[in-house]
Amino acid sequence: MIDPRKILHDVFGFPSFREGQEEIVRAVLAGEDVLAIMPTGAGKSLCYQLPTLAREGLTVVVSPLIALMRDQVAALRHFGIEAGSLNSANDPAENRRVVDAVREKRMRILYASPERLANTGTTEWLARSGVNLLAIDEAHCVSQWGHDFRPEYAMLGEVRQRLGNVQTIALTATADVATRSDIMHRLFEEEPRLFIHGFDRPNLRLAMQAKEHSRRQLFSFLDKHRHESGIVYCSSRDATERLADSLSQAGYRALPYHAGMHQQDRAKNQDIFLQEDGVVMVATVAFGMGIDKPDVRFVAHAALPKSIEAYYQEIGRAGRDGAPADTLTLYGLDDMRLRRLQIEESDAADEQKRVERQRLNALVALCEAPRCRRQTLLAYFGETTEPCGNCDLCIDGVMSFDGTIEAQKILSA
Ligand code: ADP
Ligand code: MG
Ligand code: ZN
Repeated sequence: MIDPRKILHDVFGFPSFREGQEEIVRAVLAGEDVLAIMPTGAGKSLCYQLPTLAREGLTVVVSPLIALMRDQVAALRHFGIEAGSLNSANDPAENRRVVDAVREKRMRILYASPERLANTGTTEWLARSGVNLLAIDEAHCVSQWGHDFRPEYAMLGEVRQRLGNVQTIALTATADVATRSDIMHRLFEEEPRLFIHGFDRPNLRLAMQAKEHSRRQLFSFLDKHRHESGIVYCSSRDATERLADSLSQAGYRALPYHAGMHQQDRAKNQDIFLQEDGVVMVATVAFGMGIDKPDVRFVAHAALPKSIEAYYQEIGRAGRDGAPADTLTLYGLDDMRLRRLQIEESDAADEQKRVERQRLNALVALCEAPRCRRQTLLAYFGETTEPCGNCDLCIDGVMSFDGTIEAQKILSA
């Protein structure tokens, strides 16, 4: 076996592993099945690519998007690694190259769509050629609770068996417990080694407050961040317009953003936010996907976010440059009560309701955390840490407002 660090330097040209990568690489090289949960951009691909190169044989990678496969194959070939893909967009020449390379055992990393692998002819052919490792990327697609459910992903447990019960690594950025347990059950027969890394963003200061005088709470937070770029999330289109107006009157450069605006106005406000300094974007959750502005200095929630996942994604848009960034989330007991009611009154299946109830309970528990908020947050994602020193509870101690009893009444209804 070749030393993983040597491959990291010589093939990929990286000076060091990122958090979590080395342990996962070593577990794969030790022959273990692995479920790796790391945020987007953390470097999950390396966790199956590097072990492949450290030993012999073929790795088959399942990926849901043809565009993603293409990027990865191009990047690997650029590093001088024999790689290819099997998907519906291949031309005959590409197919021939792939088939020949697999037959001659030159192929090292082969990407395949789940639809292709659902075809028994394909898996039998691959099994005959010999597959060493099955890597299932975006493994949350196996779960009905996720936003990305793909029925073909449900077949992958069977594919793994048809490939001779091959060693498997599943990777995803989605950390919630319901999704994780779906991945475990559907893809693995025995529990894989679980790795959860890199969810902490220590430069983000965390704070949550029960709404008392919400406007005053919000304005005093924003006042500490005059002339900085930031986002305020509101729960309705109307609320964004109203708040953007009152902030403008208070001397901020504040702009609304929501899906009900004309496409041109929306694009214009987004451009201003991206290009100018010190703009406050007052937005619904429609804003932010794919926005990569490194110097967003604060994110505020004027109302309870949808879930812990949504909360973390939204505050995660601050401080991408690694410099300190501030967050504040305001929540009201009314928000919680309404949310609870919406779940109970929806036509969703019981199992779905159960999952949504659990998610709401976890969010409320975060709002009412008794000590370090970051510990509570990261524990939800499965990570354990020391008290952070950079959240409201570490800095100010437990808040004076005690909503716990009230909140419990709502949740136990
Ligand atoms: P993920 O799948 O977790 O979202 P990727 O595997 O696409 O992340 O990697 C994100 C980026 O990080 C890629 O450009 C990759 O080359 C880079 N990267 C991965 N590992 C390292 C490392 N150890 N050092 C530097 N860059 C890395
Ligand atoms: Mg990825
Ligand atoms: Zn803390």
